Amino acid sequence: MARAAVGIVGAGPAGLVLAHLLADHGIEAVVLEQKSREYVEKRVRAGLLEHRTVALLERHGLAERLRARGQVHRGVELRFDGARHRIAYGELCGGRHMTVYAQQELVGDLIGLWLARGGTIAFEAEDVRLHGIEGERPELCWSAGGRSERLACEFVAGCDGFHGASRPAIPAAALRVYDHPLPFAWVGVLAAVAPSTEEIVYAQHERGFAGHMLRSDTVSRFYLQTAPGDPIERWPDARIWDELHRRLATGDGWTLREGPVLEKSVTDMRSFVVEPMQFGRLFLAGDAAHIVPPTGAKGLNLAVADARVLADALALRLQTGDARALDAYSATCLARVWRVQDFSIWMTWLIHRIPDETPDAALRRRLQRAQLERVCGSPAAAATFAESYVGLEEA
Ligand SMILES: Cc1cc2nc3c(=O)[nH]c(=O)nc-3n(C[C@H](O)[C@H](O)[C@H](O)COP(=O)(O)OP(=O)(O)OC[C@H]3O[C@@H](n4cnc5c(N)ncnc54)[C@H](O)[C@@H]3O)c2cc1C
Repeated sequence: MARAAVGIVGAGPAGLVLAHLLADHGIEAVVLEQKSREYVEKRVRAGLLEHRTVALLERHGLAERLRARGQVHRGVELRFDGARHRIAYGELCGGRHMTVYAQQELVGDLIGLWLARGGTIAFEAEDVRLHGIEGERPELCWSAGGRSERLACEFVAGCDGFHGASRPAIPAAALRVYDHPLPFAWVGVLAAVAPSTEEIVYAQHERGFAGHMLRSDTVSRFYLQTAPGDPIERWPDARIWDELHRRLATGDGWTLREGPVLEKSVTDMRSFVVEPMQFGRLFLAGDAAHIVPPTGAKGLNLAVADARVLADALALRLQTGDARALDAYSATCLARVWRVQDFSIWMTWLIHRIPDETPDAALRRRLQRAQLERVCGSPAAAATFAESYVGLEEA
């Protein structure tokens, strides 16, 4: 049977960053991933990295391609009533910035660097099961190409996302679950077209939210608000462009460039947290433990922050026997998770069309407008928004 100090389930941002940080501490970890390498390196998801995420990756020598290819941003645009309002978060937050870099690029970088340093990833690991997490000798079992495989480890990191095998391995009675579906969904669109904006745009519109995000000089990402459960078949390309034109329109002659749609899908929004994020020798990190609505672009950044806390705590425990940081892992991470949930939910309600069936919809729309005007009109309110958006805490 194979052995490693830490068995990591999932080769997403959380699992891969954790693997690298542990290796920098001199701790051996093995990563299990149910999909193929090609699949995870092409999966389109997030694209906005906080300064502290980038700083962490830089400190560990994981940011060379990101630095060369990522785009640094210092402001974001809020649109409503056809007017544009720039929040200069760089100026408001002491020069801190965000970097646009596609998640699949980052995952590809982390996999390449991990394999180059001699690390192991068992791709296409099917039916991963966690055994003995309550005791001192946990084991991971899976099948690969019809063979049964086992890994004995001292600790297990469940970094396998919302639908993974790790969280369900914890007895339900040991977890408190906060699951809050939101009355919003996004049609996410990837298009082969140069961006029509230099900074990310969030547009609040009576037809629904529209977002113009950035990826590269030749590819752009767009989001359109729809209702949860809306099938993507109801969104032919012509309808997507028509809605984007209407919702992003401004009164100053700005125009939207169109291009071939490469990919599109609908994602329902939810807020989800489990407490605690640990059970016995299993530690959950990233989407396995929490989902934030994507509005504030925080999910990936939270996943990396969890990985950092977990790597340091595991290193202390494995190398000195001091378990205090590991015991406090969940509480340490949850403090950040709840602050980010608060901001992400607030921002979601700030820029989406409030559905008619929402209790007090008319009142809430008036309050929403007052908040938008305050964020765009008051330097103090803009600074508060910017602080959460850019993520002010240290890396
Ligand atoms: C469509 C979409 C758009 C998003 N947009 C944004 C955005 O704009 N900004 C933002 O910050 N966040 C966004 N997010 C969220 C962000 O992508 C996630 O928060 C981030 O991927 C979390 O990283 P993770 O490593 O925790 O989980 P994941 O990236 O989900 O990685 C988990 C890994 O575990 C693997 N796995 C799953 N089950 C098993 C199993 N049983 N055994 C072995 N391996 C398994 C998966 O294949 C995957 O590779 C988006 C998410 C989605 C789905």
